[in-house]
Amino acid sequence: MHSNMNVVITGHVDHGKSTVIGRLMADTGSLPNGKLEQVKASCARNSKPFEYAFLLDALKDEQNQGITIDSARIFFKSEKRHYIIIDVPGHIEFLKNMVTGAARAEAAFLCIDAHEGVQENSRRHGYLLSMLGVRQMCVLVNKMDLVDYEKKVFKSVVRKYSRFLRNINVYNVPFIPVSGIKGDNIVSSSENMPWWKGGTVLTLIDKFKEENPPDNLPFRMFVQDVFKFTAMGDKRRIIAGTVSTGKLERGDELVFYPSAKRSRVSGIEHFGENKPQEVKSGMAVGFTVTEQIYVKRGHLAVRTNEKPPQTGNVMRVNLFWLGREAFEKNKEYILKLGTERVRVKLFDTLKVIDASSLHPDGMKKMVERHDVADCVLTTQRPIAFDTVDSFPITSRFVIVDGYEIAGGGIIREVIRDNQAKYRDKVIDRNLRWDMGSITRERRKELYGHGPSLLMVGGPEDPRKSEFAKALEQSFFNRGKKVYYLGVRNVLAGLDSDMRIKRHNLYPENREEMIRRFAELVNILLDAGIIVIATVSDLSYDEREIFRTSVSPIEVHTIWVGTAEESDIEAEYIIEDASEAKNHLARVLSHLNQLGVGI
Ligand code: GDP
Repeated sequence: MHSNMNVVITGHVDHGKSTVIGRLMADTGSLPNGKLEQVKASCARNSKPFEYAFLLDALKDEQNQGITIDSARIFFKSEKRHYIIIDVPGHIEFLKNMVTGAARAEAAFLCIDAHEGVQENSRRHGYLLSMLGVRQMCVLVNKMDLVDYEKKVFKSVVRKYSRFLRNINVYNVPFIPVSGIKGDNIVSSSENMPWWKGGTVLTLIDKFKEENPPDNLPFRMFVQDVFKFTAMGDKRRIIAGTVSTGKLERGDELVFYPSAKRSRVSGIEHFGENKPQEVKSGMAVGFTVTEQIYVKRGHLAVRTNEKPPQTGNVMRVNLFWLGREAFEKNKEYILKLGTERVRVKLFDTLKVIDASSLHPDGMKKMVERHDVADCVLTTQRPIAFDTVDSFPITSRFVIVDGYEIAGGGIIREVIRDNQAKYRDKVIDRNLRWDMGSITRERRKELYGHGPSLLMVGGPEDPRKSEFAKALEQSFFNRGKKVYYLGVRNVLAGLDSDMRIKRHNLYPENREEMIRRFAELVNILLDAGIIVIATVSDLSYDEREIFRTSVSPIEVHTIWVGTAEESDIEAEYIIEDASEAKNHLARVLSHLNQLGVGI
């Protein structure tokens, strides 16, 4: 059986990409029967000279009409394997393709017109390829016929462009002098360039190594959807997605990041095939799990016994910007990684360089079109991913500005923010958690609602807990499982070993107090209860500890009293604590809208 290799072809416009592809197909005998003659005849009829580039257009037309079975893919073949050309008309398509994984390039051709020489886009494409980790590159110095097949013209392109590649740490890239139009050195050796002993494009590409097949990598699948069966009595959920890398079998234990909730695969469905025993990379699958844990779109499924991914909301990335408007701080964008979609901001630029000139601008604080940047991003909530040095495929992302993809890149490392140590603890806790026999779903059915966390914050004031208790009463009256938990109660028991600050009710180590409080709340939530927790002077960072601890359950915050000195954006603010009781109905309806108690 022939193996396949995905190849992308890039280069400045008009440097000959389509011509080279047309030639490769024609000269390797890969065209459909009669295609060449058909296109030639059509040119003759319209009295225009035949071009190899037209072959590609003709094939694409057919594909658009759905005539060819395998659309969006253009093949040529050698004795060794089949090559699939990934058609990427522009930068954005290229980024999209690499990131969404529709077809990932294992190798790349970069066309440079010998006559015109290295252009800005020649450099940008080279940069993009290297950034996205396409290491097997070959530069085709095309249109050698226009420069009388002169060795020194070829050498000059080689010199110039390899200097550029060296600057971006890409070495050992082969160059080859060709003429797409005349067919020199494409499939057969050129008689016009006796000085060239380096073989043809075909011999060269046949030497490329196939990447470690993604099946051999650890299992990674971004959850795309969770389907519920609605048929009577069928309680199953199907977790669906496309496998990025690795394999999965029935009975495997999975961990879903960033929450690190565990469950075992009880059945596999492959769309199009009946119950396969095993699924591999690239397959769209759905599987059922033994424990109905809370899993959402964007979560990353990983096998327990394989290398875990990273989680975090602050990351150092390499990014390539293509948006008309610059990428700047204080503006919100959307980051897409796998099926994850999350709000993101540019936190800091460490280095911004022009992708073509490689001219660095250390002071630049925004990333303009065609710049590449080494920068730090912050996402609104923690997400799961890999870093490029472990698994490039699950490290690639794009950034959407408004409705358009405006940039993309790779994650280089996670930066540990002040939540990182709590996240680690929570992941560790979830991995070790011994689940009871009652699932979340079954509790929900019995209680008629799921768990929720309402935090009532505000300055020290007894009216805050009065309000929280009134809320508890209202939920209880409506038959909900609800529990009021004030910070005092935690201090009285769970925290009784902690040293209390003099002149203050709170322990010296307030952070640890909050952590324990959050862990306790997490258990109550796991028991399916609506928890109403009060803490005076709750800060943003403290609420984040709660968020981390109870993730992926959301935290709703109600503020009672002046919010002036608070760094929290509460969802509901009652500035005048004496008015709190009058807000009860409105708060309840607000919470109802958010799905609390439903
Ligand atoms: P693309 O935009 O990179 O896909 O470039 P095309 O393949 O469409 O080629 C652009 C133009 O350059 C066309 O008019 C081709 O005929 C011409 N061209 C492509 N390859 C060669 C070549 O090797 N020699 C000469 N003389 N012209 C070429």
